Amino acid sequence: PVVLGIESSCDETGAGIVQDGKLLAHVVASSMDEHARFGGVVPEIASRAHLQAFTPVVRQAMTEAGLRLGQIDAVAVTTGPGLSGALQVGLAGAKSLAYAAGVPLYGVHHLAGHVAADTLEHGPLPRPCVVLIVSGGHTSLLLVRDLVREPILHLGDTLDDAAGECFDKVARILGLPYPGGPAIDRAARAGDPDAVAFPRPLTKSGDDPYAFSFSGLKTAAARWVEQHRQRGTEPPVADGAAALQEAVADVLTRKALRACRDHDVQTLIVVGGVAANSRVRALAEQRCRAAGIELRVPPMTLCTDNGAMIAAVGDLLVRSGAEPAPLDVSIDPSAPLEYAALTPSAVPV
Ligand code: ATP
Ligand code: MG
Ligand code: FE
Repeated sequence: PVVLGIESSCDETGAGIVQDGKLLAHVVASSMDEHARFGGVVPEIASRAHLQAFTPVVRQAMTEAGLRLGQIDAVAVTTGPGLSGALQVGLAGAKSLAYAAGVPLYGVHHLAGHVAADTLEHGPLPRPCVVLIVSGGHTSLLLVRDLVREPILHLGDTLDDAAGECFDKVARILGLPYPGGPAIDRAARAGDPDAVAFPRPLTKSGDDPYAFSFSGLKTAAARWVEQHRQRGTEPPVADGAAALQEAVADVLTRKALRACRDHDVQTLIVVGGVAANSRVRALAEQRCRAAGIELRVPPMTLCTDNGAMIAAVGDLLVRSGAEPAPLDVSIDPSAPLEYAALTPSAVPV
């Protein structure tokens, strides 16, 4: 089937088209710059930006794929989790398109989309696989068997901040620009990761092997900056960035590999915005190679929020015979990740 996917859960308006696992179009408009001076996403600004970007983004995706609306077989849309106003805009648009084209609509869980992003680059997911989702809002270790047919098993989540949130907050403390993740990645290139001994939270024996905690790193970074200022020196930002990045990458990859070992899983998939981080990628590669585990990380443009990943889930749902969502389906801003499809009836009967 040809599936149009729509994503609008945060500050990216994405439209993607996937046909039988193959990526045909991938268009994203971001309102990131409009939020920069506030240091974080402003929900009202995001909603308004989605409203403005929706039609041009969808149109461009159709042009890229060389298709007309009548050639689409289904529409998939993120129904949660995310910002409610932002989700509403995408869902309203997706409903209109599905209704106009006379095709079924599928509500998709945003994180299932992040997982499916990798299939567009590396093909079907091996069963089972361990998935590390690391983004601005989530840090989770999942055991995925069949993404659209079976419930996803949560091995562990963050107890406080997400890894991306940690990058964003520490960047601010270090005086780096928004968004913090890419800024820390860039600054770290000139730094020494061993210059500061940042903690590795929840890695002692007795700690939950799959749970994460990143708020302590933010505090440690603030204390490090403060100590420098008290001595009347400016903190070496590159070193701070490199050391922070090392601590986050170390904890993420250590726990992800432990999950693979414990569950006898041969493949680790790392997805979400933080999967774009160069050190996370390098350390995951190094440790997977040493452990004989296959590592799959989608290319950077598929790591951050986009519509193609939602289309990828929609495509899997259609092919598995899942029931579509009713046209009065609503958003679920805090949807838990158990099923990829966000409608009660979407699990195949
Ligand atoms: P969620 O998917 O959980 O709803 P989100 O939509 O904010 O959250 P994404 O768009 O997947 O998340 O990712 C954005 C996050 O990724 C931000 O926190 C950003 O700082 C981080 N990020 C992006 N590039 C990098 C990088 N190179 N290094 C570290 N972090 C990065
Ligand atoms: Mg985003
Ligand atoms: Fe996301």
